[in-house]
Amino acid sequence: MRIAFRKISSNASPFEIKNRAYISKGTFRRLSHTLVELDFRLYAPVKRICDRCGAEYLHEVDEKITLKVSDGAFKGEDLDVIECFDHYVDFDAIISGEIEAEKSDYHFCPQCQETENNQGE
Ligand SMILES: [Zn+2]
Repeated sequence: MRIAFRKISSNASPFEIKNRAYISKGTFRRLSHTLVELDFRLYAPVKRICDRCGAEYLHEVDEKITLKVSDGAFKGEDLDVIECFDHYVDFDAIISGEIEAEKSDYHFCPQCQETENNQGE
């Protein structure tokens, strides 16, 4: 899904995008002439391999994500702004990026997570 910046209104509009097992559901709205905000929940029941013991386990991703997209180079201080250079907000590309970021974190199965927490005490 791609939407032109100029077609996005300042009233929040709903969107829902499925990307493999991941569902992103939320709203987007215009903040200024060149800035759009996406506010959504990223949800997925996914199978994971534990980075410590190699066990497979089921994990429920449920993240609340708010991000800003700039039409062209962003000149402000906020580092989390995604820049688009063709005057379109590319929802699919943005959400794929968020999914990849989520996947690239370290993941521990519930048992290893518990061990990790106990060691911290
Ligand atoms: Zn483990």
